[in-house]
Amino acid sequence: MAVNKEAYLQIKKELDAKNVTLVAVSKTKPASDILELYELGQRDFGENYVQELVEKAEQLPKDIRWHFIGHLQSNKVKYIAPFVHLIHGVDSEKLLKEINKQAVKLNKAIDVLLQIHIAQEETKFGLDEGELNLIISQFENLKIENAIIRGFMGMASFSEDMNLVRSEFQMLKRLFDKVNAQYAMINDQFSTLSMGMSGDYAIAIEEGSTMVRIGSLLFGARNNEQ
Ligand SMILES: *Cc1c(COP(=O)(O)O)cnc(C)c1O
Repeated sequence: MAVNKEAYLQIKKELDAKNVTLVAVSKTKPASDILELYELGQRDFGENYVQELVEKAEQLPKDIRWHFIGHLQSNKVKYIAPFVHLIHGVDSEKLLKEINKQAVKLNKAIDVLLQIHIAQEETKFGLDEGELNLIISQFENLKIENAIIRGFMGMASFSEDMNLVRSEFQMLKRLFDKVNAQYAMINDQFSTLSMGMSGDYAIAIEEGSTMVRIGSLLFGARNNEQ
């Protein structure tokens, strides 16, 4: 299926009006599809697989802001550290430390989001509230100065039950507000709440999302998921 430019323009307009950032999720789609949206002005793109992201970043314009939204293994951080704009799926202290280490090596800062587990499904990655509190409570001791925590990312249950989805987004927003108020040391830079995908982004925005990750509505269904 071709890139849906009409859908893009409409969604982009809707999100701009609400000050929500659109990350166009281009995983499994060719570079030519990305360029079609790039030519319409889109600059934020999201990818799930390290090798695919590295290959696309080499081929495509350098002013694209690449978001890594998949599950990131610590040993692969080094491949994306030089150019990645935002890493959404940080779900362990180990990964956070490794991102910091690579950022220090490159003498730069890398922006990250902590992924919080909000869905009912067991399969979704993410920190639970206890793990989150542990990371944040020892944040100063961890000496993580080059991995900058900008906020949270979450994925709701893959469900038809929109009340369930909404309640999960509400839970994440409450946690986001609580952490924001409680932990002054990350306060001034803690402003991104990445939640909402093709099927649930409207609800996510109603519940306080500042960044949505939309793939299939823009690029069509994925039939070759890795
Ligand atoms: C694939 C993916 C998306 C986009 O999903 P769509 O339903 O196609 O919009 C968003 N977030 C994450 C983490 C993904 O893996």
